[in-house]
Amino acid sequence: MTSVDMRTPGALEEAERYTAHNYHPLPVVIAEGDGAWVTDVDGGRYLDFLAGYSALNFGHRHPELIAAAHAQLDRVTLTSRAFVHDQFADFCRGLAALCGKELVLPMNTGAEAVETAIKVARKWGYRVKGVADEQAEIIVAADNFHGRTTTIVSFSTDPDARADFGPYTPGFTVVPYGDLEALADAITPNTVAVLMEPIQGEAGVLVPPAGFFAGVRELCTANNVLFIADEIQSGLGRTGKTFAIEHEGVVPDMYVLGKALGGGIVPVSAVAADREVLGVLKPGEHGSTFGGNPLACAVGVEVVKLLETGEFQRRSAELGERLHTSLAKLIGRGVVAVRGRGLWAGVDIDPALMTGREACERLAERGVLVKDTHGSTIRLAPPLVVTGGELDHAVAQLEAILNP
Ligand SMILES: *Cc1c(COP(=O)(O)O)cnc(C)c1O
Repeated sequence: MTSVDMRTPGALEEAERYTAHNYHPLPVVIAEGDGAWVTDVDGGRYLDFLAGYSALNFGHRHPELIAAAHAQLDRVTLTSRAFVHDQFADFCRGLAALCGKELVLPMNTGAEAVETAIKVARKWGYRVKGVADEQAEIIVAADNFHGRTTTIVSFSTDPDARADFGPYTPGFTVVPYGDLEALADAITPNTVAVLMEPIQGEAGVLVPPAGFFAGVRELCTANNVLFIADEIQSGLGRTGKTFAIEHEGVVPDMYVLGKALGGGIVPVSAVAADREVLGVLKPGEHGSTFGGNPLACAVGVEVVKLLETGEFQRRSAELGERLHTSLAKLIGRGVVAVRGRGLWAGVDIDPALMTGREACERLAERGVLVKDTHGSTIRLAPPLVVTGGELDHAVAQLEAILNP
């Protein structure tokens, strides 16, 4: 194919011309996806090792998820929560059971679920803990990523995410991730919650020091503070368990879920907690037009079923070993450090060789799609349906660009 016949350059130019430049996409225009693979408009095939930032844990167009969506499209897609629909209870019951919690509250995007958790924690603080009006404090970690709303960016420590978007929402205290002493010092009688990612994804797949979250749990329990685990990216099989926090032997008071909960088809997010916490919300106090809609719930029911089998968690654990074993062999050969759990890896490329962005561009040329996080770090997060052979192939491409 000569370049004049290629559709990619024109499609890229069009995409640039008509959109706000809030992303810097790799020069690939995807037309189709299937499992761990995508095909571009010129027929080029790529292994998708970003998997929609873990929204595609079950791969592109998982047959059972697609079938559930199709079936629901032919019945009813939206009712609003003003009425109950016949997929709602199934989804909420299944998800609550998966989380080991009494109640769930479905929303759409991850940021909305985080906002929901913040509102619930504050209200719990006032109505259950007895914090004085307007005084509630929530402790978060430095280098967090919890979404893009004005309140959430208020407690971001990333200047790109935060600068120029003030005035900022008060009521948040930032402590270093993994620093128990700093957390203990930050807790006051007005602290209602600690909100953290069990593994910090956007920060570069940072795994906390062993015992950190056990300590967080202890401090929260001792001080009557809710521990909220943002499992939007780390949860639902990504790390080899249903929830990444399970690796720490810890149960949070509230789970915040999103991304893979929608099976890569529709945006579905939720918070899950016991009645003592989530029960503080009364009619009219919180809501969402699309939250918990029939299409979302029908897909969500199947997502929960897939997770109940344990098959994806097992694959992620087993293949994750294989991925981390082969990545470890690249340390000193273009790679400085590797972190992660299961099918999730943050790989620090030797900055003397190339930036993370350059690594992503060269990998794309070799048919592997990944995304840089900061500086020279790239993240690998293939769909959990990836095969061992595909993992080996992707790591071989990384090896090739680093050792030409
Ligand atoms: C992606 C993400 C969010 C935000 O989810 P959106 O659906 O993009 O709003 C929040 N927290 C974590 C840990 C995430 O990875």
